[in-house]
Parts: sequence; structure tokens; C-alpha cells
Amino acid sequence: MGKIKNLIKKVYFFLVQYVYLFPGGKRRKKKPCLEPFIVPDGAVELNVRIAPVYKNKCGIVTIISDDGVYKTAKALKALANKFSLPITVAGTVKNVAPHMKFWKELNDDPYIELVNHSYNHIRMEEGTHISSDMTALKHEIYHSQVFFEKITKRKTIAYVCPENQMCRLGYQVLKESGYLGVAQGSRGYNDLEILSDTANNPGSWFNLKRMGICDKSEQSPNVMRQSWVDKARENNKWLIEMWHNVSDDITKGYQTITTAEASEHLAYLKSCENDLWIAKFTEVIKYLAERQSCVAKAYWLDGHVICYVDPKNLELDIFTQDLSLLVDLSNVNNKCPEKMIEVKPGQIQRVKL
Ligand SMILES: [Zn+2]
Repeated sequence: MGKIKNLIKKVYFFLVQYVYLFPGGKRRKKKPCLEPFIVPDGAVELNVRIAPVYKNKCGIVTIISDDGVYKTAKALKALANKFSLPITVAGTVKNVAPHMKFWKELNDDPYIELVNHSYNHIRMEEGTHISSDMTALKHEIYHSQVFFEKITKRKTIAYVCPENQMCRLGYQVLKESGYLGVAQGSRGYNDLEILSDTANNPGSWFNLKRMGICDKSEQSPNVMRQSWVDKARENNKWLIEMWHNVSDDITKGYQTITTAEASEHLAYLKSCENDLWIAKFTEVIKYLAERQSCVAKAYWLDGHVICYVDPKNLELDIFTQDLSLLVDLSNVNNKCPEKMIEVKPGQIQRVKL
């Protein structure tokens, strides 16, 4: 018995020393490495601001296709790659789980992202049976998040409410589960400055507005959809389009549009790419959250611009989206009065002019 006790002691101390305490040990928490940002003597401090939209474009468009239907996902992958435009798929565990191999492969596609649209796609607004059942709400919001994180191998920060609504307790679970952006079904365009209010307030982080692909209009469907894009550009807004199925058999699925209709709209979006940032749901959430929290700094020294984005309280392993900084060089360089430089939160960037 004594020998076994000694062996257990040795194994225990080995684990404590080499796995827990030492770098590379599994239980050692990864800490972001922040470089210090000090303006040296002789440098000229510069005015700098973060562009409201990535690459300083006029507005933003995000396509979210709801439900994660396998056949539609295949059609979306083909379309997104044909037009080199990103599409976000909001999937339910119920639809995604039977095709795990496909979704894991799709995770490597640069144009498709997968976000959470609940476990079973049940109504969760106030007054429904589930709205007072914390266990069931956790299943629909948190357990489904764990499922999607296994496929995407990254933190799931975006949620799309099934049936477009959410109850009060559901908001609480969303918040506790670490979601940062939630789309619902309120119609309209989002401001580039998102309201921090997490109550049921359209346009806030937990109730981002969308336009429905089959919404009724006096115009023809594609003219209506193109007019949304024009409004986002003209009024500096974030348009989130809510798509459902894409299939050449429009008798099947919910709010199905044909591949030809989808192509026509994507071609229009592509023609607006110089003015609009067409981006995945998660990328936009990160950009706008970073822009609203971070502080940019810059100085000029020996023909170089050195800039830095102070992340304040943001978690650097989540907030990895490049920010577009607009650096005012009018005091130091006549030839180029303003320069756009891309920097991630917590990083320093040096650019020679
Ligand atoms: Zn849905």
C-alpha cells in the first residue's frame, strides 16, 4: 500500500509542477501580450480616429440565412464563392447535427460563417411556456452555443432569435452566456452606433433589426431588396438581410427564393462593394463594439507613423477584428494629409511614409 501511496504522490507532484505551474501547462490561462505604448521624446502626437465603418465605407450589409437547412447551405456556399461575398448562416442544432461532416468542412470556407439560431427553433417570447422555464431556455441558448463552438472552434458571440422574439429570462441567459450581438425580427436599419440597452429595444445590441427577404412591397422583390442596400449606403446604416431558403423549387421550404433571384441581388451587392462593407454578422459585431470601446493613439517619428489601439476592457482573444484608423498627417506631411491604417485592438502598427 505504501508503494502505491508514494506513486500517487509522485504523479500528483509531477502534474502540479509540470502541467499546472509551468508555461505550456494545460491549466495555465493564456494572457494576451500587450505591448506598452509610449510616445518618445521628439515625436509628434497625431490626431487619429477610428472609421465608423471598416475601410471607411459608407454603410454595412450583412446577409443572414436562417435555419441552417442543408440543401440551402450548399446553395449558399456556391453563391458566396461565385460572388466572393460573405454570408452568415444561422443554424439550429436540430438542422445542423445530422450533417456534421458537411458543417465542419464548411467552417473552412472563407465566405460562410455559422452562428447560433437555437437548439429546436421554438418560440421564446414573453408568455410562452418556455419563458418561465430556465432549464429549457438554457438548452435553447447556452447548450446550443456549446454545440456550435465545437464546430466553429471559436467563441460564439452571435445569436439569431428563432421566430424573431425573446422573453425576459431569455435575455438574461443570452447575457450570461456571453453573447454580444442578437438579431431579432424588428424591421429596419441599424445605426452605426449601437445602443447598449439590452432590453427589448429595436436597434440595441440584443435586438438588432433586419429586413425580411420576402417582405411585402409595392415594388418587385429585387427592386425592394436593392432599395434597402441603397438606403444603407445613403443613410450610413447597417442593413441586416434576413434570408431563408435558396432553392430552384420554390414550393419547398419557408420563404424560398430561387438561385437566380439570389444571384441577381448578390450581383447588385457586389456592384456596391466600393461603398459598402459587406461582412459577416460576427465581424460587424466585433468592429462596432471595438470602435465603441477602444481608443486609438498615434505619433510621427523619423518618417514613420506609429499607431496603437488601446483595447480598454475588451477581451483580446474575442476582439480580433482589424479597425481602420484615420490618421491626420496634415501637420507633418503635406503630400498625404490623411492615412488609413489597419490595426487590431491591443496592437502597435508602424508604417513608413
Ligand atoms: Zn428561423
